Amino acid sequence: MIVIASSGGDVGIRQAVQVMQDGGNAIDAVEEGIRHVENNPDDVGVGLGGTPNLLGEVELDATIMDGATLQAGAVGSVKGYAHPISIARKVMEELWHVFLVGAGAERFAAEMGFEKTTVMSDRARERWRTSLQVDLGISDPAQLQQARELRHIGRLASYTTKVLGTVNFIARDEKGDICTGVSTSGLGLKYPGRISDSSVIGAGNYADNRYGAAACTGMGEISIRASSARSTVLYMKMGMSVEEACLEAMQDLDALVGDRHRGIHLIAMDKDGNHYGAANALDRTKHIYLTSEMNSFAEFEGHYAPFRTDPKMEPQSDTRDGMT
Ligand code: ASP
Repeated sequence: MIVIASSGGDVGIRQAVQVMQDGGNAIDAVEEGIRHVENNPDDVGVGLGGTPNLLGEVELDATIMDGATLQAGAVGSVKGYAHPISIARKVMEELWHVFLVGAGAERFAAEMGFEKTTVMSDRARERWRTSLQVDLGISDPAQLQQARELRHIGRLASYTTKVLGTVNFIARDEKGDICTGVSTSGLGLKYPGRISDSSVIGAGNYADNRYGAAACTGMGEISIRASSARSTVLYMKMGMSVEEACLEAMQDLDALVGDRHRGIHLIAMDKDGNHYGAANALDRTKHIYLTSEMNSFAEFEGHYAPFRTDPKMEPQSDTRDGMT
């Protein structure tokens, strides 16, 4: 039994392993681990502590994938529910659809008995106001709420804001079944309705017992364009080790032109529980892991894989003039 997680998973990784020690499976472990992160008010990129979009609303995304059946559940842009990972699991288990967004996802959450709650902490509101002011020079949020056009601001915000955050969990249970889960509030100051890679099966999340699993954090636009999680698993299918597969998937990103500025962090596990990670940013190469034999989780230092081509990434002409 093993669980690996991106760094914010430290608040739930022990409980995730415990669930499997108590007889639960990999899906139970992933959901449990992520729910602890979604409840952590200090995590500014996930659940209750999540960061709002440009208009000051917290929109949450999540996915879960069962490597035994290749069934998956995804939700995007969910407002008013703290645990999108649990809604995603219900989508996987109760619907024949895979992906619900916005009002439909919220309606389904209510139908499944999830509690509606306020997902906007005072601290998140404060961060939103500060980000608007410091990163975008906007002192009055009403200016944005009344704006006819946000698109230039949204683009500029994606280059300047510091708030990134997502949690990945990958669990392998006693039977050898693998499950992946991802949950996020997405990029800080994102354009309303923007969906992250964390919601998109194949981009930020993929699991297949026969080969392994992978999940991403970082700039979702990149992993969506490169289908990074699915590619990593496919490279393992083609015979690469988990390490080689991660590095190959990172090299795929070299071909992307434009808007690559923040890079991603990819974590992966092969079918036997070996794991690896790689990132384009030096400060994001670590992930954590815990097995049933260990007393406390350990850190794994992954590979720093910077882009090897000119990213052509800086916005040349975007200004805030687009806000009218
Ligand atoms: N992947 C997330 C997104 O694109 C953000 C993150 O991982 O920090 O919204």
